[in-house]
Amino acid sequence: MRDRDLPEPAPAPGLIPRPDFWPASDEIEDWRMGAALGRGASVLARHASVGEEAAQGRLGAFAAQKIADYAERRDFPAAGATSRLSEHLSWGEISPRSCWHAGLRAMEAGKAGAETFLKELVWREFAWHLLWHSSHIAERNWREGWDDFPWSTDGDSPEATAWKRGRTGIPFVDAAMREMYVTGTMHNRARMVAASWLTKNLMTHWRVGMDWFADHLTD
Ligand SMILES: Cc1cc2nc3c(=O)[nH]c(=O)nc-3n(C[C@H](O)[C@H](O)[C@H](O)COP(=O)(O)OP(=O)(O)OC[C@H]3O[C@@H](n4cnc5c(N)ncnc54)[C@H](O)[C@@H]3O)c2cc1C
Repeated sequence: MRDRDLPEPAPAPGLIPRPDFWPASDEIEDWRMGAALGRGASVLARHASVGEEAAQGRLGAFAAQKIADYAERRDFPAAGATSRLSEHLSWGEISPRSCWHAGLRAMEAGKAGAETFLKELVWREFAWHLLWHSSHIAERNWREGWDDFPWSTDGDSPEATAWKRGRTGIPFVDAAMREMYVTGTMHNRARMVAASWLTKNLMTHWRVGMDWFADHLTD
């Protein structure tokens, strides 16, 4: 990426034409999801950030206030030192190009942590490229040598259940899981530790963790 120019984000379209015919659809009320959707909403709503404007706001605030110290502080979960842009990126509310150019401008302005932030965006691109070009990795081991590993695949085992409930007895792991239930996201370092505890200590298959994270993370 260093020796490549990444174009600026394309301008917003003047008009998005509506389809000639709307496809048949359901009424959302008919799904009777209201009660389930409402449960916990008041908890999550305090932390959720939704929409393009909110995404631009987060990026702007991060570039102005936090990016300079990002390299130093990003690995401390309690520091609140990261951008919290992942949910916006995941839902397409902001583009990686917008984030990239904000990071570049911060780097040019001499903000020390900006280069590390750019590197994290590259990690994101790398992960997406892997998934695109080797989509089997969402289901199978990258290295076949792991196929015979004696994982527990039981997501309802007492150990996996304790992990899911944030009751392993390991404070950092439990705090990480509870962070996810309250905020919808989990700090990167906490994700690494929680995932590592499930797979390496509890010897539970990574797919159990992947499915659980997919069900509970907003990003
Ligand atoms: C087990 C595990 C599960 C994860 N699951 C997800 C997921 O479901 N969705 C998701 O978006 N990220 C995931 N990540 C990556 C990373 O933890 C989050 O992107 C990051 O914590 C989001 O917080 P932030 O936006 O404040 O990140 P920042 O530190 O501000 O980073 C800026 C952006 O760079 C990208 N990024 C940062 N760290 C990574 C990384 N390690 N790998 C890939 N991209 C990264 C993200 O798009 C992030 O928004 C996972 C990491 C691990 C170890």
